[in-house]
Amino acid sequence: MAPVLQFDSALHIVQTLREKGYESYLAGGCVRDLLLGREPADYDVATSATPGVVLKLFPRTFAVGAHFGVVLVADGEAVTEVATFRSDGAYSDGRRPDSVRYTLSAEEDVQRRDFTINGLLLDPLRAADSLGNPKALRRAAIDHVGGLADLDAGVIRAIGAPARRFEEDQLRLLRAVRFAARFNFAIEPQTLAAMRALAPKIATVSRERVRDELTKMLTEGRARRAFELLDATRLLAEVLPEIARMKGVEQPPQFHPEGDVWTHTLMLLEQLEAGASMTLAWGALLHDVGKPATFRIAPDRIRFDGHVEVGVAIGAEICRRFRFSNEETHQVLALIENHMRFGDVERMKASTLKRFFRLDRFDEHLALHKMDCLAASGNLDNWNFTSERFAAMPKETVRPAPLVTGRELIAAGYEPGPRFREILRAVEDAQLEGAIATPEEAMALVRERFGG
Ligand code: ATP
Ligand code: MG
Repeated sequence: MAPVLQFDSALHIVQTLREKGYESYLAGGCVRDLLLGREPADYDVATSATPGVVLKLFPRTFAVGAHFGVVLVADGEAVTEVATFRSDGAYSDGRRPDSVRYTLSAEEDVQRRDFTINGLLLDPLRAADSLGNPKALRRAAIDHVGGLADLDAGVIRAIGAPARRFEEDQLRLLRAVRFAARFNFAIEPQTLAAMRALAPKIATVSRERVRDELTKMLTEGRARRAFELLDATRLLAEVLPEIARMKGVEQPPQFHPEGDVWTHTLMLLEQLEAGASMTLAWGALLHDVGKPATFRIAPDRIRFDGHVEVGVAIGAEICRRFRFSNEETHQVLALIENHMRFGDVERMKASTLKRFFRLDRFDEHLALHKMDCLAASGNLDNWNFTSERFAAMPKETVRPAPLVTGRELIAAGYEPGPRFREILRAVEDAQLEGAIATPEEAMALVRERFGG
């Protein structure tokens, strides 16, 4: 949706609330993004009006989080989150406040927010003429927490006492990493120290929420920085110990001049672009996850025999732990399972190569292989060969209509049974090799090889 529409819709909501005598502003991530000259993903309004008032004032509303003071207001295609000024009560579970207390003070409301750059308010009526001009927009900002200075300096700083803020809500540990990576900001030293001390508490956050944060880190275009920060804050060993184990696992220098498995993995993450698919991103992260467990110094060189199979097993455990869907799991595991096959492409029989191309979303296999090469020797011969063949091969060649079916075998007098699979596979092999092309040739092959 056009960003201007979203802004206009939020502006209209603020105007309406003010006409009724309620204080209201744009708040949180959208203010931060506007001031950074980035396009906000969504707009949030903070107001002194209670959810009951907001629900009555606008024709199309959704009381999704009215209990926590949040109402969604729809206007055409734009949906704005309207939240009542509030201060959160105690957090006994480290996830959500036990109670919320509405307040009439915007200043109190921003104190409950996580980081100073997320605690800014903006008066959209004063901002409307300066959209797209971050410098001018600053004049419409209201800053109770030092967020403007931290935006300028590039700093992620907890609002208030960092340790208390992370103890209230441990998801903030991952949010700090994500924002620092996304904006390439530094984490303020006291905030960082509190994160390191409290990292083990991330275990109280649901795995789905951890997964969603990690997926965002992997697919926002600065995955390497995010994972370096996860490591620096000790969060990596808590949420993905299998990846932390890659550190210090040496590789044969003739194939991996870049260094250990961790360095190699970081070099893949560095290549993930903003908007990368989650399966490709997790596949890149996990493709060598079997290496630490299979490391061995053989007489000739360092070897990781069986790392693909071990990697698939570890990957399956990680996908299960993070409750990936079956489809996501299938693709991530396929990426791990097939990543070494590119080494053989030039020697593959035509039938094997075509069956390789039948993998779901083969473009992701190609993309992973390219990243894998660029993070090591840099030799793209196999990638070039495979991507050219793949691009040149029409779908009907990769998966041609079968020349014979089980029904025709029965009609020809063959007894149905387990042998059918073998027969049909042999026919398909010959077809993929180009040795046969017609049903008659196929039946001739069947009679010759399987009798009857
Ligand atoms: P994104 O661009 O990823 O959406 P965001 O800052 O908009 O980033 P949201 O999760 O959309 O993040 O939340 C909107 C705002 O609500 C934040 O900017 C912050 O002020 C506040 N907020 C969100 N989650 C938390 C939290 N766990 N603790 C404290 N404040 C939070
Ligand atoms: Mg947001």
